[in-house]
Amino acid sequence: MADTERTFVMVKPDGVQRGLIGDIVSRFEDRGLKMVAGKFMQIDQDLAEEHYGEHADKPFFDGLVDFITSGPVFAMVWEGQDATRQVRAMMGETDPAESAPGTIRGDYGLDLGRNVIHGSDHEDEGANEREIALFFDEEELVDWDQIDESWLYE
Ligand code: UDP
Repeated sequence: MADTERTFVMVKPDGVQRGLIGDIVSRFEDRGLKMVAGKFMQIDQDLAEEHYGEHADKPFFDGLVDFITSGPVFAMVWEGQDATRQVRAMMGETDPAESAPGTIRGDYGLDLGRNVIHGSDHEDEGANEREIALFFDEEELVDWDQIDESWLYE
């Protein structure tokens, strides 16, 4: 059995503008994941550059920072068994055009630079914890019991 863990997820400015927050939250709720933090916020230049620091030398970096700071985002932390990898599977591929129908990017996107959602990379060890700490203070993470937990896990 995989470990219960927390992962960082964010509806990007295009997803917010297109009214997709509710649907995206519903998908994770329906899957059985538990939201432990969420905030509607504007990302500033410094936070954008830090969050996407691994891409600083890429040609798309400036455009990516401009885009992610262009309007509000909805930042969240979701908890559950194998949460980081499961969220990534639900998101689809980085490029919506390569994402299967039924995934979030496959259902709502067409273009690589407007791919609706961010989720921590499960192949990057510790990325989930680093990103959670970058966006949320410890006291913003809520410990709570979900009533259907005994029906979701053996
Ligand atoms: N991106 C882009 N052009 C590219 C590659 C990536 O605009 O050629 C953007 C895209 O929004 C992507 C983000 O940069 O979501 C981060 O890229 P990464 O490879 O980390 O993909 P992700 O983890 O978001 O699937």
